[in-house]
Amino acid sequence: MHIACYVLRTNKRTVLVDTGVGPAPAPFFGDMRGDLIHGLSLADVKPESVDTVFMTHGHPDHVGWNLFDGKPSFPDARYILSEADWSAFHDPAVQAAFPFQYVDQTLTPLKALGMLDQIDGETALSDEITAIPAPGHTPGHMVVSISSRGQRAMILGDVLMHPAQFAEPDWGSIFDMDPDQATATRKKLLGRLEMEAMTAAQCHLPHPGFGGWWCAPRAAATGSRWSATRGLYSQRRRRAVASRMTIRLPSLLIRPID
Ligand SMILES: [Zn+2]
Repeated sequence: MHIACYVLRTNKRTVLVDTGVGPAPAPFFGDMRGDLIHGLSLADVKPESVDTVFMTHGHPDHVGWNLFDGKPSFPDARYILSEADWSAFHDPAVQAAFPFQYVDQTLTPLKALGMLDQIDGETALSDEITAIPAPGHTPGHMVVSISSRGQRAMILGDVLMHPAQFAEPDWGSIFDMDPDQATATRKKLLGRLEMEAMTAAQCHLPHPGFGGWWCAPRAAATGSRWSATRGLYSQRRRRAVASRMTIRLPSLLIRPID
């Protein structure tokens, strides 16, 4: 499974969305090892330059690099998680559902370190970036809406986990904690992506995980379809152009980091 995190660079801010699988993930992930810090260095992003670490939700493949050896991996950042997910993942019944422990290594210490901001409801992370509740996958799951000079994008978190769910939004993931609510959220956000012609990014879709959910001329008879983007994406021209891995809005860079 592809697991990506996203770096958002505005003129003033460097926001990391999710921290992926950590340096020593549980057996649940097999041989997969998180490579986030190396990936950031390849993208010329120093951990100290990250001022905000936003967690779409509290699942282990989204919070793994929060800390390393008990120390925050991003020492100058505020870490942000929804209040609902903080509570849910500290519920012993929820923790018991996981065949391994990770909350005490990746989430709990952030509060003691005074580095955690718990949010409730729609919250602006910067002038261009807004966290929006999208519950169902987890109780406090959130997506990230990005707007810059009239261009829009959305990081979907785990609203869906496979491209088939664009066409079949009733199909859930076994990891959806509330399947009915997850389906309702998926349908609502797909409608918004389509209506607002937003670029979408999702960390479990095939690399690099960018695309759009819109009505291409040839697909008019069958309605909208998912169009994966393989390169630099120009929303104005609605097609990919040469380059790799980066969406460039006028004053904002979004890039996935494996
Ligand atoms: Zn996930």
